[in-house]
Amino acid sequence: KSLVVAIDGPSGSGKSSVSREVARRLRAAYLDTGAMYRAVTLHCIASGIDLQEGSAVEAAARDIELFISTSPDRESVTISGDDVTAAIREPEVSSAVSAVATTMGARAELIRRQRALIAGAGHRIVAEGRDITTVVAPDAEVRILLTASEEARLRRRGDQLGGTQSEVQLKQQVIDRDAKDSTVVNFRQAADGVVTLDSSDLDFEQTVSAVLDVVRT
Ligand code: C5P
Repeated sequence: KSLVVAIDGPSGSGKSSVSREVARRLRAAYLDTGAMYRAVTLHCIASGIDLQEGSAVEAAARDIELFISTSPDRESVTISGDDVTAAIREPEVSSAVSAVATTMGARAELIRRQRALIAGAGHRIVAEGRDITTVVAPDAEVRILLTASEEARLRRRGDQLGGTQSEVQLKQQVIDRDAKDSTVVNFRQAADGVVTLDSSDLDFEQTVSAVLDVVRT
């Protein structure tokens, strides 16, 4: 039986780690769609493709040989067979990724791939990103918008990066990126039928439980 759990939210909402754990508990697959935008961004940077040139970015999203693991226990992204799992998390990728996200032709290509991955997992999957509840899988059995206050999001991203970044740098990476992303996708307000979960005052385990509660209702 089909069980697609779609989870959207801003950066620093904890949605990746929470979604991965929810997938484990449900014995479902897991798809981090942000990793796909990151992979296309890295590929463009590495091959000298101008991120401001829409048609070139769209072609890159179409032609890239991209593999992403949908096992929640194995984080792996490769481009043409090269392991880029760690490289796509580098700050230069984070600060450039919105250029790919705001290229509509590139989005269309990635959305097509994401739907294929969901189908490939037999529609038993937790998929997470910015437009999963609204565009990629609007028919998902479960749709959640995971939010958190700006303060909580900055704190989490800071912890994640091990306290190596100043407050100004963190603001740039979390707040500015969301501002750019929200020019093309609305992940601040829940669409009709989407359950909003505010994780500001919840720890990791409580957030996982809250998501599982929504799945079970
Ligand atoms: O989730 P993460 O922060 O790794 O996503 C990286 C970027 O990918 C986001 O800032 C956004 O630009 C883009 N993205 C998107 N739509 C998604 C997932 C991610 O535009 N469904």
